[in-house]
Amino acid sequence: MSEVNLLDKGERFVHVSVGSLHDFDGKQFVKDATGATSCEISFGTLPAGAAVPFFHSHKENEENYIILSGSGKFQVDGKVFDIAEGSVVRVSADCDRNLRCTSSTPMCYICIQAREGSLGGYTMTDAEITERESLL
Ligand code: ZN
Repeated sequence: MSEVNLLDKGERFVHVSVGSLHDFDGKQFVKDATGATSCEISFGTLPAGAAVPFFHSHKENEENYIILSGSGKFQVDGKVFDIAEGSVVRVSADCDRNLRCTSSTPMCYICIQAREGSLGGYTMTDAEITERESLL
């Protein structure tokens, strides 16, 4: 199983890492490590041929699955479709979901879980350009 390593922490940020995704194994949630208050993020890896060992549903949260590598099948209730690197799948609350890796290489993905309907402003309706000297 993978672990989350705390790399740095300031008054207004937390930097953690699950390490190299190529060496990643299993499933790792990061909310507790970062202290996130708006969503839960998890990294997952499915070996060739493997599926998550159960279907599950969420009461209030939608999930957004982002496929980083590999390919496979995704099932939402009775519907099955192909997924591959670059796929993004949003799944509503109150329905069953699962995914299977069908590629010969592992399928790595990120899942972001947040309360359905909670997003207000975003990108430039929420952000403002600020005046800050770059130290990068
Ligand atoms: Zn879930």
